[in-house]
Amino acid sequence: MDYQKLLEDIYSQVLPLAGEGKVADYIPALAKVSPDHFGMCLNNVDGEVFAIKDADVRFSIQSISKVFALAMCLAVKGETLWKRVGKEPSGTAFNSLVQLEVEHGIPRNPFINAGALVLADIMLTSFENPEEEFLAFVRELCGSETVGYNDEVALSERETGFLNAAIVNLLKYHKNIECDVERVLRFYFQMCSVEMNCMELAKAFLAFADHGGDFRHAGIELTRSQIKRMNAIMQTCGFYDEAGEFSYLVGLPGKSGVGGGIAAIHPHRYAVAVWSPRLNSKGNSVMGMKALEILTTETSESIF
Ligand code: GLN
Repeated sequence: MDYQKLLEDIYSQVLPLAGEGKVADYIPALAKVSPDHFGMCLNNVDGEVFAIKDADVRFSIQSISKVFALAMCLAVKGETLWKRVGKEPSGTAFNSLVQLEVEHGIPRNPFINAGALVLADIMLTSFENPEEEFLAFVRELCGSETVGYNDEVALSERETGFLNAAIVNLLKYHKNIECDVERVLRFYFQMCSVEMNCMELAKAFLAFADHGGDFRHAGIELTRSQIKRMNAIMQTCGFYDEAGEFSYLVGLPGKSGVGGGIAAIHPHRYAVAVWSPRLNSKGNSVMGMKALEILTTETSESIF
């Protein structure tokens, strides 16, 4: 498969969508990102890397960070993790809190904000230096020591994060948060603020695609079975209330973020990352989703 040619071809096919969608503007730090970026990178399990356009430009990974947080929590808690967070698709927006009230403070899954806030709480009680250890884990996965947090993004999220604050308070009311509410919020926003480029994201996700051997990174150990299950959750819950559409059009486990990034994997074949900041109404990248749809359509291969 000539992936380089395929990626170039995909770019020319998604270009007509360039003006569609809207850059996340709920915080000034995200709103100032130039909307016209497009980057894509595919790493196959044979170690080959294919990249186009802005694949080396870093952006805010936002909710893609929830995958790394889940890996760390699953490693320390194992199956007991599921007592505090579910693994069912939510069918609601990423920042919705309606289900949380009805379901007595147990978030539907770890990839909606409520679930990831519980992960943040678990990490705060399980790791001595959670900020450092999270970053060390991500850096080792992507092989880059310069990947870091963007404090301006994290701080401005905290200043406007009223909905996330409401969610964490509701969780605390239902006794599903152990730590101080403010501490949980700050750590959650810190994780969301990590900046990576498509090359780094594709490399990091290769660890989830290539689960033929042991998963051991920066002190985090997961069995093949656990990785397989993480991928299942990416498949069913990785795109909020568009998980069904993504499954239908793309057919790969993955995770999106409101920074416009999407990382996805084809188990035992490749990991792919795409970035374009303009989002659809569900908070997923317009060009990114289309690019992945074309990838699995042109290759006639998805997990199905
Ligand atoms: N930091 C964002 C929030 O919590 C992340 C949302 C996302 O990427 N979907 O609202």
